[in-house]
Amino acid sequence: MATIFTKIVSGEIPSYKIAETPKFYAFLDINPLAKGHTLVIPKAETDYIFDMPDTDLSEMMVFAKKVGLAIENNISCKRIGMAVLGLEVPHAHIHLIPINTVYDIDFKQPKLKMEAKEFEDMALRISNTFKDNNE
Ligand code: AMP
Repeated sequence: MATIFTKIVSGEIPSYKIAETPKFYAFLDINPLAKGHTLVIPKAETDYIFDMPDTDLSEMMVFAKKVGLAIENNISCKRIGMAVLGLEVPHAHIHLIPINTVYDIDFKQPKLKMEAKEFEDMALRISNTFKDNNE
């Protein structure tokens, strides 16, 4: 059974895409802790991030850095926090979350309610910055 994130990569399930490479994909988290909360995933299915081959994990971190910098260019925050949980979706992923305090990356906090238009605008802004920075 394909994971929900594999279905996102294939386009079977829609997503607010930020960026992709042949091996990785970044998209907005649908239940964000903060505006700009983004998930970075490998296209190849692996449940546990530490089961990824070293080279893929290293490359994914560099991709996450580029995505994080593009988020930072668009969201007012002290920095971009990173978290790996994987308790809900069994497909390796890194959370990139704009933070000002430690509480902003507390997964027990209520999630933001955002309209589709706001997700679309946010994804467009961050993805345009990603392109400007990397092409
Ligand atoms: P975890 O596996 O605990 O790291 O959490 C999985 C994350 O994936 C949660 O923050 C969810 O809001 C997010 N998520 C689940 N389904 C989707 C989806 N279809 N599109 C975007 N984000 C999702």
